[in-house]
Amino acid sequence: MPWFKKAKKPKPVRGPLRSTVPEGLWVKCEGCKEVIYSKELTKNLRICPKCSHHFRIGPTERIDLLLDDGPRSELFSDIRPVDALGFSDSRSYRDRLKSYQRRLGVKDAVSVLTGEIEGLPVVLAVMNYLFMGGSMGSVVGEKITLAAEEALERRVPLVVVSASGGARMQEGVLSLMQMAKISAALARLADARLPYVSILTDPTTGGVTASFAMLGDVNLAEPGALIGFAGPRVIEQTIRQSLPDGFQRSEFLLEKGFLDLVVERSEMKATVARCLRHLAAGRPAQGRPAEGRPAEGRPAEGRRTAGQRSA
Ligand SMILES: [Zn+2]
Repeated sequence: MPWFKKAKKPKPVRGPLRSTVPEGLWVKCEGCKEVIYSKELTKNLRICPKCSHHFRIGPTERIDLLLDDGPRSELFSDIRPVDALGFSDSRSYRDRLKSYQRRLGVKDAVSVLTGEIEGLPVVLAVMNYLFMGGSMGSVVGEKITLAAEEALERRVPLVVVSASGGARMQEGVLSLMQMAKISAALARLADARLPYVSILTDPTTGGVTASFAMLGDVNLAEPGALIGFAGPRVIEQTIRQSLPDGFQRSEFLLEKGFLDLVVERSEMKATVARCLRHLAAGRPAQGRPAEGRPAEGRPAEGRRTAGQRSA
């Protein structure tokens, strides 16, 4: 007889009750805790029909949401990341990259496309949070820089949709360098007076917020998106104060002047188009730098430089 050991009772066999509802048919809303029919959510652009909570969406849905149905082509899709620093147990970084690439069918955390938004040609970059938390390594930095240069060459606006946990730890300083590199490319775009619209989605943090995500001529965000540099826990520990309600959410940032607009997902395309038309209208053809020739040496008006905003 076991005196010191508890005899384990055999686990009861689960009845069919648990498996009658297929996985993923219903989704619980993080906003109102209501249970929503998955198909209804998809039909509603993944916005909760009860409380308007914006669920995260992937890059494919995002691209379809923003670009017209007309011709679009993906650029720089063959650029792949390398483990340049031999990250301590580098095998794991390499393996992780491989597994993400296999699972998601992309090489890294951003896609760059050309297409049109309400008939206006643009270069669009969309970050993918599912790929290593949308972290910015050398590939993300290079592709967004190339996207800005492509926009410059085609003389069309640049639109970037951010969703990122920040710089990619496994690429160390090479990740941090990207902040300066992209900012410099955006400054050239500003010199040529080409619009840059930044769309911040849930979540946009770290080095991405501290560089290109906050450098738009117009900075738009989705409702309720987490936007910040360091996380709230780190800030609370550092300043030894509790943070106000809604801290680091879009609405809070709008109120404090960090954003220009908080835009419902269903209104995003129309709003971006309106901003682009407005910015294009403010770019008089006469008396200003000739088409195709950027105005060298003149400070960009109306755009903050990276140094002013970097944390
Ligand atoms: Zn809800």
